[in-house]
Amino acid sequence: MAMLDYQASSDWARACDAADPLGAFRDEFLIPPHEASDGTPVDSTYFCGNSLGLQPRAVRAAVNAELDYWAELGVEGHFKGRLPWLDYHEYLRDDLAMIVGAQPGEVVAMNTLGVNLHLLMVSFYRPTPQRHAILIEAGAFPTDRYAVESQVRFHGFDPASALIELEADEANGLISLAAIERALAEHGARIALVMLPGIQYRTGQAFDLQGITALAHRYGCTVGFDLAHAVGNLPLQLHDSGADFAIWCSYKYLNGGPGAVGGAFVHARHAQAVLPRFAGWWGQDKATRFQMGPQFAPIPGVDGWQLSNPPILALAPLRASLEIFRRAGMPALREKSLQLTGYLEWLVQARLADVLDVVTPSDPTRRGAQLSIRVRGGRARGRALFEYLMQHGIIGDWREPDVIRISPAPLYNRFADCLVFAQAVQEWGWLG
Ligand SMILES: *Cc1c(COP(=O)(O)O)cnc(C)c1O
Repeated sequence: MAMLDYQASSDWARACDAADPLGAFRDEFLIPPHEASDGTPVDSTYFCGNSLGLQPRAVRAAVNAELDYWAELGVEGHFKGRLPWLDYHEYLRDDLAMIVGAQPGEVVAMNTLGVNLHLLMVSFYRPTPQRHAILIEAGAFPTDRYAVESQVRFHGFDPASALIELEADEANGLISLAAIERALAEHGARIALVMLPGIQYRTGQAFDLQGITALAHRYGCTVGFDLAHAVGNLPLQLHDSGADFAIWCSYKYLNGGPGAVGGAFVHARHAQAVLPRFAGWWGQDKATRFQMGPQFAPIPGVDGWQLSNPPILALAPLRASLEIFRRAGMPALREKSLQLTGYLEWLVQARLADVLDVVTPSDPTRRGAQLSIRVRGGRARGRALFEYLMQHGIIGDWREPDVIRISPAPLYNRFADCLVFAQAVQEWGWLG
């Protein structure tokens, strides 16, 4: 698709939505209702897929099917039914591998993001007296900050010296690859682990996973990525990036539901490696798992990090959601996403520049769906606009001190939604 000749008219937006090859996917989602000023329920304008993606209609039947198998089969549900529970996590593998650009044996759906981060740091953060620092970005998401700091302490080191927080070198809190390279040139010999986001949650900046990995490996550091905001948003090539490991959650762009089962990636070159790990029976080689012996022999690859038999009722919604990604395909989603977020950015710049200021990089290759938007005039004005939008059924989210995050998700957002946002901001501006 060629870049569109954007126009701020509802006829234009509606024509784009009508021509959108992914347009029908919106009907596969439940859009939360909002009460219009005359009291009738209408669809809200939902831009919060960066926080909690919407429910696919197929989820209810997928969960009910497992409840029915449980009712009818009891323990036999592990071996019978359309999708026997014993191998349930396997049914998600190929879709996950496609979404993150990995080999099937490199990905698994398990636990939640924070748990997976700790489990993989047990194996991939192996500090020594000479090399025990971790490089993260300043202003990292709290879980990531707490996880790396607690791991540093757990190994008996002092976060004051062992935690290196990369400061932004560009306006609006953005970090260039050159800044990462400078940090590695300065501290690389003492850095054990480089732990950075795929997309930074506050600024919306996308990072160059392959570029970062190549640099960090040159300095002998291990590399892990937090893909919370990148998975299902950007097409990723995790295997080719060379990253050692990655983790993500599935309730944001993946629409897996509140507290959904997260995911983990371990690069194929570590598939057979003997690494320290915290083990459980679900990581045990399937040929011997049910012999229930004392010897732990892990499944090669990321599956060997599984602890517990998987939560079927939590995996069922995610499986239903990933099936949508399989049909839509990441390249088509990205193509629409570029146009949709491009339209939102164009509207802000063409119509709202006196009210709003986009924090997220303007280079589309350095961002995903999300635009982090600062309201000119300070926090109180920002809060006032945010609340005005919420009252009008326009759902974004607020990040202190002054940022509204608006994320048009290509599976269910429309060009018309972006226009609704811009018109509401304009009305609010006229109200003074
Ligand atoms: C959403 C998010 C998390 C959440 O972690 P959970 O363990 O799923 O609660 C962690 N890190 C980042 C960067 C996030 O965006």
